[in-house]
Formats: sequence, structure tokens, C-alpha cells
Amino acid sequence: MNEAATPAVAATRVNLFDLDRAGLQQFFVGIGEKKYRAEQVMKWLYHQQVDRFDAMTDVGRALRTRLQECAELVLPKVMHEQQSADGTTKWVLALAGGNAIEMVYIPETGRGTLCVSSQVGCSLNCSFCSTAKQGFNRNLATSEIIGQVWIANQRLKALGRGERPLTNVVMMGMGEPLLNFENVVAAMDLMRDDFAFGLANKRVTLSTAGLVPMIDALSARSDVSLAVSLHAPNDALRDQLVPLNRKYPIAELLAACNRYVAKRPRAAITFEYTLMKGVNDHPEHARALVKLLRRVPSKLNLIPFNPFPGADYERSDAETIEAFKRIVMEAGLIATVRRTRGDDIDAACGQLVGQVLDRTRRSREHRARLEERSDAA
Ligand code: SAH
Repeated sequence: MNEAATPAVAATRVNLFDLDRAGLQQFFVGIGEKKYRAEQVMKWLYHQQVDRFDAMTDVGRALRTRLQECAELVLPKVMHEQQSADGTTKWVLALAGGNAIEMVYIPETGRGTLCVSSQVGCSLNCSFCSTAKQGFNRNLATSEIIGQVWIANQRLKALGRGERPLTNVVMMGMGEPLLNFENVVAAMDLMRDDFAFGLANKRVTLSTAGLVPMIDALSARSDVSLAVSLHAPNDALRDQLVPLNRKYPIAELLAACNRYVAKRPRAAITFEYTLMKGVNDHPEHARALVKLLRRVPSKLNLIPFNPFPGADYERSDAETIEAFKRIVMEAGLIATVRRTRGDDIDAACGQLVGQVLDRTRRSREHRARLEERSDAA
């Protein structure tokens, strides 16, 4: 699982967007240059948002020529940009090899959050998630992950959304970030590096379905905020919604969460809980959840289920959601209901699809089921 960072394209030239600061230092030393070149080039790449060596005017001509020969600057390409009435913006990005991913920007008062993808498709098969229905295609390269932040930042400025439109990043797009560990960690390092995007640790959040050993690995490597997709207060139900639970049941997951916060005194884990009608939204579920989360410093993020074609679930009623929230809050938990944003452009959680070429069996089955349903209708 702890695979080495993989570049976007197997080429002899190194894509410098695939390297974090340590990687860039190694690269420059490797071509006989001084280490400080890493910071110098990072300022061009991330502060000036330049993607051409010939624009790096304080890098000597000889070195620029050298870089053109042995390195490259490759980012995903914007295929489509869509703005919602509420300011939410969604992009479809084309990747090398013919795949596409989606990313979403959510503006709120005082902050702007980018929801970033980590994989093309996903292998975890959560029963209520549309990304799961596409199957898994491949991990994103570091350049494709940090490239999302780079592109969003550039586009938002061009759209006149202020000088610092992006204040937070959540790894909550397509894919399971802890299954693309090295590339995700390198990209999150760049998000927080002062020579790149300089975001505070707590403003970069990784969300996981609960890969227990990788939570410990993350804890050893990175100081980002951690979110965990819980969705059920007991193993029987969570086994159905998040099949990964059969491998890492709730008790083990919460123990890993406690190890994560134990190393970070003021930190709390954000637990995501998607509310599905008649499935996990009963007052009994809320009370069981309270008992569980008393054991971990936590915040609860309730997400009204977002439907997608062929989904087997429905969104809980507004009154049910309110009642659920009241129970957990009266018991002393900090809980928020995630406002549904950008649903006029299919940009809500669990609705990101992208274009997964070379689809797996799972996505073919899903499409076949959709066709059956439309034939029956
Ligand atoms: N694989 C990671 C990152 C995805 S984050 C994880 O599971 O945490 C996306 C969040 O949206 C997760 O909490 C996911 O469970 C939730 N989600 C998925 N499909 C959804 C849907 N249709 N409606 C609402 N939330 C959904």
C-alpha cells in the first residue's frame, strides 16, 4: 500500500509538479545544481503560477535550457467549467491517458473550500456513493492532485473571486486518499508549504472511509485534519454501507482516531454521516451514535444523502434530519448539517463522476442495471 509516488506519464522527463519540496531538492542536486533552486522554482510554480520554464526570469538561461531537456511542467487540462447559482463552481479536468475527474469549489463567508479528488474512480464500493458505481481506474499522480489546487486558484482569480479565493482544501472528491498514500501526502505537503500554497495544517482535511493502518501511517507523516466517513453507529449496518468495515470494524476505527488525536492535543476528528431515509436516520441511530462518539474528541458532519441515477437510497426528510441533529446536540456533540451546495450542477458530495475509461466490471453492471430499469419503466 505504501507505494512510491508515481508520475503522471512514464517519461524520461520529470514532471516537476510531481515533486514536493524535498523531491525538488533531490532533483536539483541530482542534476548538479544547488538545493535552493527548489524554493526558487517553487515560487514560480505556485506563487506566480507559471507553467513554463522560459517565464522563470531569475533562473539563468543555461539552467532553463537544461530544465527544458530533462524536466517538464504538465497539469491536467480544464475541459469544462460550470458555475452554480450559489457560487459553487465545478470543473471537469482531462488527465493524461484519457481519464477525467471532477473538482468542486464551495465559497462561504470568510472561506473558500476546494474539494479535491485522489483517484479516478474508487475501489471501496460504498453502497450509496456514485463514484463507487464507476469502479476503480487508477491513482492520481501528485501533479494531478496539486494540479487541481493550482488550476482552481488560477481560474478563481480569473473569474474575479478575490485575491485569496481558496482557504481550505478537503480530500473529499473521488477516490480513497489513503489508498494513494504517497502521492496524496506529497500533494498535501505542497498545499501547506509556504513556497507553494501555504495553507495552515487545519485547513487541509483528508477524509477516509476508515483504513485503520493507513490512519496510523498518516499520523506519522502528516499533520492534516482528519475526517472519517462513519455513516452508521453499529457494525451490522456499517458493513452494508461501507464494506471496508468488515475488515476494520468501528471499534478498531475509533481506536485509530483516538491515536490520531492523542498526538495532536487540540485536534478533533470530523465524522461524516450521510443521512439516508429509513436506513440510518432513526432516533435510535442518533442515540447509538452519541454513545460511540463520546469516546473520541469529535465533530459530527451530517450530510443529507445526494441522489444520483440508479441510487438505492433516498434523502432523509428535513424534519428527520432536524430531529437527528437535535438528539446529538442535546447530548453535547458538536454537529452541523452540511448545506447542499451546487445541486443545480450535480456538484454535491457523492455526485462526482468524471469519466472513467477502461471501466471495471462494477461500472458495467451498474450501467446494465440502469438500462434494465429504464426498459422496465
Ligand atoms: N473515500 C473517502 C473520500 C470521499 S469523501 C471517504 O470515504 O471519506 C466523500 C464523502 O461523501 C464521504 O463521506 C462519502 O461517504 C460521502 N458520500 C458519498 N456518496 C454520497 C451521497 N450520495 N450523498 C451524500 N454523501 C455521500
